[in-house]
Amino acid sequence: MVDVAKNLHDVLDNLPDGVRLVAISKFHPNEYIEAAYKAGQRVFGESHEQELQKKVETLPKDIEWHFIGHLQTNKVKYIAPYISMIEAVDSMKLMKEINKQASKHDRVIKILLELHIAEEETKYGLTLDACRQLLADGEWRDLKNVHICGLMMMASNVDEQEQIRHEMMTAANFFDEVKAKYFADDDEFKERSWGMSHDYKIAVQCRSTLVRVGTAIFGPRVY
Ligand SMILES: *Cc1c(COP(=O)(O)O)cnc(C)c1O
Repeated sequence: MVDVAKNLHDVLDNLPDGVRLVAISKFHPNEYIEAAYKAGQRVFGESHEQELQKKVETLPKDIEWHFIGHLQTNKVKYIAPYISMIEAVDSMKLMKEINKQASKHDRVIKILLELHIAEEETKYGLTLDACRQLLADGEWRDLKNVHICGLMMMASNVDEQEQIRHEMMTAANFFDEVKAKYFADDDEFKERSWGMSHDYKIAVQCRSTLVRVGTAIFGPRVY
């Protein structure tokens, strides 16, 4: 078994005040999560609803779970009772479904809007213009059981640090734009979720507040 506690502390040592770690435990067994939990970690991220459900049932109740993957609308109802934050929301349709399911449990679910800035082709995430449009439309203001707490993005999976830095700074500047325009009075709109195992050190230089680190803590995933 990898030394989860040591790896966890190595990552935490690199995080300045104000940056929180989401330990990405997808595809890793409960023992690994328990090792990180014993070392003090409480925020974990998963990307598959069924796997998350199994873990939630068997692991300590004070874990704060973040859903970090692409979430299908028909899966929202399963995680709505307990999920702390849904990080990758990229459509009004999904936001409305989260609102509907959260209201059934009398909860307000925190979400992040997922941006697509990386060069790579992906179906997921909002372009900056699509995100501007979604916020301008204003329909989100009616959703009382959803709270938009910030932005999330994944930088291109490349070796060029300057490209990664450029993409993350684009996201950071865009955060300032929408913060000023829509969320100036909302102290909860504060999260900038970028940075994974290979680029979280760059992310903290690009004003990340949440880094999502898996491999550097738990080792390679066995799919
Ligand atoms: C898997 C995943 C991560 C963690 O990636 P590592 O390279 O293992 O640190 C972070 N963010 C998202 C959205 C992921 O799917």
